[in-house]
Amino acid sequence: MEVRCGERRIILDAGSGIRALGERLRDAGGRVEAAVLLSHYHYDHLQGIPFFAPLAEPANRFTFLGPRREGRSVQDALEGQMVPPYFPVTLDQIARATLDFRSIEPGEPFNIGPVRITSAELEHPGGNLGYRLEFAGRSLVYATDVEHTDKPAESLVELARGADVLLHDAMYTGPEYEARRGWGHSTWNGALATAKAAKVKRLVLFHHDPERDDRALDALLWQARSSFPRTTAAREGQTIRVVRG
Ligand SMILES: [Zn+2]
Ligand SMILES: [Zn+2]
Repeated sequence: MEVRCGERRIILDAGSGIRALGERLRDAGGRVEAAVLLSHYHYDHLQGIPFFAPLAEPANRFTFLGPRREGRSVQDALEGQMVPPYFPVTLDQIARATLDFRSIEPGEPFNIGPVRITSAELEHPGGNLGYRLEFAGRSLVYATDVEHTDKPAESLVELARGADVLLHDAMYTGPEYEARRGWGHSTWNGALATAKAAKVKRLVLFHHDPERDDRALDALLWQARSSFPRTTAAREGQTIRVVRG
C-alpha cells in the first residue's frame, strides 16, 4: 500500500506489490523519498524489497520503520532476508539510495513528517502491528494479519475508532477459518464486525486468500455490502481517495 499525504509518501509493507510500485515511481521520473512502515517480517510482507527498483537510484532516500522482533531490529530483518542462499545480492550491494532505519516501540505514537502514527499489537503468530495514520483531519487504519476471537479484537477497535478508512485482513470465509484457527488471520465477517464496532466510515477488505479468484471475491463483496454498504475489496493498482467522512 502506498499512502500519499500531501507531498509525503508512506509505503505500508513490502510484499510483491512493491515491485509494481517501483516501476511506476521509476516511470514517473524524479527523486523518490519515502518512509516504508513495516507491520511485521513475514515473507509476504517483505519479499518485494529485493525487486524494488528505486532502491538502486542514488538520488532516492528511504526510511524503513518497524518494531524489534526476536531481538532483531528492522535493519537486521531486512538485511537477513538478502543473504545467500536466499538471495544472491545483499541489501547493501543493491542499495545506491540513502537508507535509514528506525525502530519503533509498539503502542508509542510517533510522526513521519506531518503524519501522526499510532500502533497497536494485533493477534498474529510472532506479533504484528496495526497502524493508524492521521493527516489533515483524515485517518486511515492498516490492519493486516489479525485473528479475532468470536468478537472483534478490543485493541484494534480502539485503534480504528471512527477512522475514515479501515484496511482489514479478509483472508478467510467462515468455513475456511474453522480449519485454520490460530493461523493469525481474519474472516471477511470478522472485518465487518470490527468495522461496525469501531464505527469506521469505510472498509477495504484486503490480504485476500491467494486462491480466491475475482468471481469469488465479487460474491463475497456482495454479501459484505448487504451488512456494511461502504465496503470495497482492494485490488492491485487501485487508488482510494480518503475524504473526511
Ligand atoms: Zn503474517
Ligand atoms: Zn500476511
